[in-house]
Amino acid sequence: MAGSKRKLKLAVWNEFKKVKIGSNEYAKCIYCSKKFSGVSRNGTNHLRLHLKSCVLKKVKLNGQSMVQTSMRFNRTDAGTILVENYTFVQDIARQELSAMIVLHEYPLSMVDHVGFRRYVGALQPLFKMGTRNTIRSDIMAQYELEKKKAIEYMAGIQSRVAITTDLWASNNQNRGYMATTTHFIDESWNLRNIIMRFIYVPAPHTAEVIGEELYDSLVEWNLD
Ligand SMILES: [Zn+2]
Repeated sequence: MAGSKRKLKLAVWNEFKKVKIGSNEYAKCIYCSKKFSGVSRNGTNHLRLHLKSCVLKKVKLNGQSMVQTSMRFNRTDAGTILVENYTFVQDIARQELSAMIVLHEYPLSMVDHVGFRRYVGALQPLFKMGTRNTIRSDIMAQYELEKKKAIEYMAGIQSRVAITTDLWASNNQNRGYMATTTHFIDESWNLRNIIMRFIYVPAPHTAEVIGEELYDSLVEWNLD
């Protein structure tokens, strides 16, 4: 017991510095520079107490992954109100942001829009928005993950699959696109479809070009 107390006492001095002003000795918080008197006489309890509430310590230590816990009210299925802990997690919030952009086809430039930034700031000041490029790479990473899951899922289904390709050129850009879709019946007898590929295919769209791209899709999805 005495040993652990001593350890606690020593640990405090990782976060406080002893400073001398005149003949008085003070303990100075390394985060907020607040000074506390009577170091040796009063022990270190008041210093430890300060570390628990030092705002600047929280800001400086959690700067990388800011976490804030608060209460959240939820309605249960039975209709009663449930109070639970809610923790703001930057990564989850960022995932939700990119999921929203994909779901509603919002422009990536949304993250630069002043109005949107102000809105998010009002909801959660701790949220770090990130740039267009970081959101883009978040979305691409999510895409790769979902695609891997879909490929794995396709490997497990028992039914046959129908492959459809659709090609079109956008008039104003004079560019050709090709979408490859698969239709199948899942284990619950529901008709499902998955877009396997949506790619840019330079013109001309000859039979060889289409065939080659289609073959690549099949190989990629282990359907060859
Ligand atoms: Zn402090």
